[in-house]
Amino acid sequence: MKTGKGNACGPARDEIKAMDDLTKMMAQVLGHARSYVSGVDDRTVFPQDDAVAGLAVFEEPLPEGPMAPAAILDLLHEKGSPATVAQTGGRYFGFVTGGALPVAVAARWLSDVWDQNGAMYVMSPVVSALESVCEKWLVALLGLPAGTAAGFVSGTSVANLCALTAARDEVLGRLGWNVKAQGLFGAPAVRVVLGEQAHASVFKALSILGFGSDGIEKVPADGQGRMVVEKLPELDRQTIVITQAGNVNSGAFDPITAICERTRAAGAWVHVDGAFGLWGAASDRRRWLVEGIQAADSWAADAHKTLNAPYDCGVVFCRRRETLTRAMQAGGAYLPTGEKRDGMMYTPEMSRSARVVALWALLKSLGRRGVAELVDRLCDRAVLFADGLRREGFTVLNDVVFNQVLVVCQSPAQTAATLENIQRSGECWCGGTTWQGQPAMRVSVCNWASTEEDIERSVKAFVKARGRAIE
Ligand SMILES: *Cc1c(COP(=O)(O)O)cnc(C)c1O
Repeated sequence: MKTGKGNACGPARDEIKAMDDLTKMMAQVLGHARSYVSGVDDRTVFPQDDAVAGLAVFEEPLPEGPMAPAAILDLLHEKGSPATVAQTGGRYFGFVTGGALPVAVAARWLSDVWDQNGAMYVMSPVVSALESVCEKWLVALLGLPAGTAAGFVSGTSVANLCALTAARDEVLGRLGWNVKAQGLFGAPAVRVVLGEQAHASVFKALSILGFGSDGIEKVPADGQGRMVVEKLPELDRQTIVITQAGNVNSGAFDPITAICERTRAAGAWVHVDGAFGLWGAASDRRRWLVEGIQAADSWAADAHKTLNAPYDCGVVFCRRRETLTRAMQAGGAYLPTGEKRDGMMYTPEMSRSARVVALWALLKSLGRRGVAELVDRLCDRAVLFADGLRREGFTVLNDVVFNQVLVVCQSPAQTAATLENIQRSGECWCGGTTWQGQPAMRVSVCNWASTEEDIERSVKAFVKARGRAIE
């Protein structure tokens, strides 16, 4: 590497060092962050057309040489920030996308500077310690069985994948088949039973794990999207049953107690996909929704949804620690033997971000009561939203038991046109879905920053959008 004066090959090392002054850059970025945060509630929720068009500036061949960091960061803010979706603002109700609690974002910035690798204790004692602490805290918060293990992953897609890997391996193990040694080809059949409204990520995880869609046994759902227990097929110890705590459209919860009773008697494995709904366990007012979850074998949840951790942060829980660590081991007969936690024993990845730092800060800041209040706040505002829409003549299709509201106008065409107008309005943003064969608008109240005024203003935006649709 050149160490002399700057020349045609690029700047000299001293110059690079000066440019790489991290604290200077952070001060610059702090300014940009300030302007972003202070403006996020005043801008359009979905980026304006000219902001999206401005992204063309990024389409260039890989630069041959360096550019000064200050100019890069300015460019990113000038062209990137306006083209973001304002999901940290109070009027974004798309998908089930949590906001980001300030304390967690700030903790994340600090952990970004640490740049820790969360794979093993020897790579980061602090990440190892915080993972152990958060595991205990979350198990207590959700009322899961003592000793339940947690792995910190990117989201519920991966959490589902981890849990279902553990389930598959254990069910095969009980049948005398060691999947680690013998593989899948020629293995005894493992059955998978799930509600017909299981989340897309569950089907994806199953296909990765070798369960073809033709063999999956789907249980019919009721009008709210809950699995109908009476329609469960005969279960046996070769079966994995996948339940849902929080339907991604309606927010409805499967009757988990009844499902677990049937399943346990048969010796089957029960997994709970609780991406956003599992957090209901933290609230005295909503705990009834997840009644019975502690009888399951594994659970998946997203801290980046209801809990408002910054992206990305999901958690897989498994009742029997060794079942998860065996399924996620790197090879051979290795099991964690040390006293200290090696995070990679619980997840598919080896190198991994220190995402637990932000999660720890969030839990420490809210405490048990704060999490309960956050969950209740989101759910109460969803009820407020639904009431406001009903008052304005919209039809709410679901029982608003959690944070999801499904809403339609007088006709499918009017619903579709209204949704398009809402998404273009910039006032608020929600997504669309198909519910029982009909187009519907899907409102998810999932952000701590959504105030009652935001809800009122958004209801007005719905009315206005419908008015334009009729014209
Ligand atoms: C969001 C969601 C998932 C997928 O989670 P990701 O964090 O997006 O990977 C799975 N199941 C349900 C019910 C969800 O709402």
